[in-house]
Amino acid sequence: MNPLASRVVSFICICLLAQPVWAGKLSIVIDDFGYRPHNENQVLAMPTAVSIAILPNAPYARKMAIEAHRQGREVLIHLPMEPISRQPLERDTLRPDMSSAEIQRILREAVNHVPYAVGLNNHMGSAMTSSLSGMQKVMQAMAAYQLYFLDSMTIGNSQASRAAQGTGIKVIKRNVFLDDTQNEADIRRQFMRAIDIARRRGSAIAIGHPRPATIRVLQQMLPTLPADIVLVRPSQLLNESERYYEPMPIITASKSVFHPVRQCYVKRPLSPVSQAKVFRQLEEGIGQSDVGTYIKQRWQTWLE
Ligand SMILES: [Zn+2]
Repeated sequence: MNPLASRVVSFICICLLAQPVWAGKLSIVIDDFGYRPHNENQVLAMPTAVSIAILPNAPYARKMAIEAHRQGREVLIHLPMEPISRQPLERDTLRPDMSSAEIQRILREAVNHVPYAVGLNNHMGSAMTSSLSGMQKVMQAMAAYQLYFLDSMTIGNSQASRAAQGTGIKVIKRNVFLDDTQNEADIRRQFMRAIDIARRRGSAIAIGHPRPATIRVLQQMLPTLPADIVLVRPSQLLNESERYYEPMPIITASKSVFHPVRQCYVKRPLSPVSQAKVFRQLEEGIGQSDVGTYIKQRWQTWLE
């Protein structure tokens, strides 16, 4: 093989091998499913890593769960929980003063209405999720099912993680709401913030809703996702290292917080390395591997 071909082969190997290691993981969950089948079918036409959270008492809850599961898409129960502000509530919205038995009944019915769900996240819930005793009752009820909890983080002092301690229930947290407004430029900006967090921290979870502006932005941006970002299901973030569970900036369209980098692990500046040397070392490293050998063989076939 001539030197140029060898280097091109090495570059292909690098790309094949590097992406799973270096890619930032981005998880997108679309909430409030079950009421607007026209919009929701547009979400179901998106890549199957885009996951959905279904309101258990919505008219199309079961239909959407079955269809999403048939596609291989991850399904969550979007469980209504009491907000602090006064607004119209779903039937069976969880309140902190409900008994454990009542919460168990509501969860059991939700599991029946949303087949194939593997996780659960809160719809609204600023009052419920900030109540430790309320969330302890939720986590105890959840322990009967193999569900993870995605904290929608509708309030800063959510007690979900504390309440889950000792129950074995895994908790992950939303980082970005995509669509606090229906302005496409705002939604695009929020999407880019999620990408930025995924790059800096290794993963990010963004939540949106099946509204026309959100759907248009996702239809534009998902096909042109940067090469260093990979879409994942929320369940793929359950076993990430603990650093992903540190308090993260809660970013909404109306408020953004600048968090400077706290630590830099490079103690000394690195000496410059020539491009030729990089290629040489990579060739030495992967040229003898199975993948390297296979691609080199294929390359020679392609050149023929
Ligand atoms: Zn919701």
